[in-house]
Amino acid sequence: MDLLRSVKDSTDETEFYTPLPEGYTLGQTKYVAVFGTVMSGLGKGIFSSSLAKLLKDKGLTVAPIKLEGYLNIDSGTLNPFRHGEVFVLDDGMETDMDLGTYERMLDQDLVGANFATSGQIFSAVLDKERAGSYLGRDVQMIPHVTGEVKMRLRELALQSEADVVFIEVGGTVGDIENAFYIEALRELSYEEGEGSVLCVALTYVLSPPTLGEQKSKAAQLGIKRLMEFGIHPHLIACRAEDRVTDKVRQKISIYTNVPLKRVFSMHDLPSIYLLPQIMREEGLDSEVVQLLNLGGLINSAEDARNAQAWQEFSSRIGKHTHDVTVGVTGKYTALRDSYASIIKSLEHSEVANDAKVHIKWIDTTDIDAADVVGVLGDVDGIIVPGGFGVRGTAGKIACIQYARVNNLPYLGICLGFQMAVIEYARNVCGLDLADSTEIDPDTQTPVISVLPEQKKIEGLGGNMRLGGQDVMITPGTLAAELFDGAKHIRQRFRHRYEVDPDYIEQLEAGGLIFSGRHGEHRIMQILELPRDVHPYFVAAQFHPELTSRPLRPQPMFKGLVRAAIERKQA
Ligand code: GLN
Repeated sequence: MDLLRSVKDSTDETEFYTPLPEGYTLGQTKYVAVFGTVMSGLGKGIFSSSLAKLLKDKGLTVAPIKLEGYLNIDSGTLNPFRHGEVFVLDDGMETDMDLGTYERMLDQDLVGANFATSGQIFSAVLDKERAGSYLGRDVQMIPHVTGEVKMRLRELALQSEADVVFIEVGGTVGDIENAFYIEALRELSYEEGEGSVLCVALTYVLSPPTLGEQKSKAAQLGIKRLMEFGIHPHLIACRAEDRVTDKVRQKISIYTNVPLKRVFSMHDLPSIYLLPQIMREEGLDSEVVQLLNLGGLINSAEDARNAQAWQEFSSRIGKHTHDVTVGVTGKYTALRDSYASIIKSLEHSEVANDAKVHIKWIDTTDIDAADVVGVLGDVDGIIVPGGFGVRGTAGKIACIQYARVNNLPYLGICLGFQMAVIEYARNVCGLDLADSTEIDPDTQTPVISVLPEQKKIEGLGGNMRLGGQDVMITPGTLAAELFDGAKHIRQRFRHRYEVDPDYIEQLEAGGLIFSGRHGEHRIMQILELPRDVHPYFVAAQFHPELTSRPLRPQPMFKGLVRAAIERKQA
């Protein structure tokens, strides 16, 4: 009651400060907060999304949110080499790659509200300060910045109408940059009341090779650190190479007061997609249902159906009849995270095609036409993914030419679409000097350039096409076949340059087919070669890898793997 009153009057009379969005009722939404201890990179997102999936399977509505510590407003400016790929949401928000994990695991499209950074939080607080919203108070980390965090969480709860909001706190407990998030979640637990917020500590059980046994000390200290913030976990997930022994689980249980059945061994698995099933077997989902008192909302029949569909998918992981190698050209070959969604899309297509796909990473920086045979001679298909800048583009064009001439299945993505246009213009249409203005701003033959409409907004920083757009598919094409005859599809974009409309006729006259286009403007979105010319040559101006899901592999990837199998068998 005190809390509710405090919402209205944040005056000097009370120290309570609980700003709530219009229409929000305290204690109605359930929250699961996942914290990382010992070190980062242990798979908080994988744990959190798997648990969320299990609840979604039961018919509950779930909404995840990642709370990032960094001060950037979004991930758009982050270097994938340092931070992994930029994952673009349908509404155009450029986020951390973890949002991709949630979308795939939950088979659910997310929006900007599912992603928060310190930069967004501070910027909102400073805007409010300038607008005089704090009524003359000195603006402080607590309660104002933490209040803003809680506001974001509650706004998400309202907007998504979620039964359960899953909060993943980026980084590790003890980092300066996420301390205010942890404090905000402690406050949230208090304000929402008993049984509303469930806290999970993800920790790490070391097993030094020289000792040959698992040691729990680092895990204990990490969890203790979380407790120093006033948060007592309800559930502990122990990452480890091998299954965590009962003894170590007991030790952790005793030192943390967390019952043994809620100390979960999250050991390495051949695939992350096996995790939900294991969590289910260990009863973690029922523990959460019980602790959050969600029993009344559960649909057991739906749960059984979903569990079975997932079981069918995951039991096929690692089993296969076919074996193929797909080359992926890329500048950031040193860091696999920069191509996380492409790797995942290939995994989904593996299962769908009963195949194992080996990826051969190809750095195109130093290769030219003479080297290509050596590099591509042993692959069954090739992907040229997205990218920015000049480096490696000549090598990519050489690879595409090889694929086109040698009937090697080809999938081009974004930059790989643009390079395919350049290759075709140069080597088939006789436009010898064809180029992209990104590569050569002074080219006389800009087959790829910035469109006039975009040029108008250039300089305002708004010239990147971002987010979901409809793509019209030409009937009777390979694209139409891949997308099961759909007249239009929705895909995600992140690019600046396009096929220059002045060259479309020439390219088409030369035999290139644009089988996916914008509904109104002359914007080319999918290209392909006729089936009698090449078995599988297709490219997209969008990013097909961003919409592939385990049970619904993106058709262009699925088609590539199928074509690679057929080539190998021929
Ligand atoms: N650099 C190209 C462009 O801006 C391609 C972008 C991409 O591959 N994401 O249009």
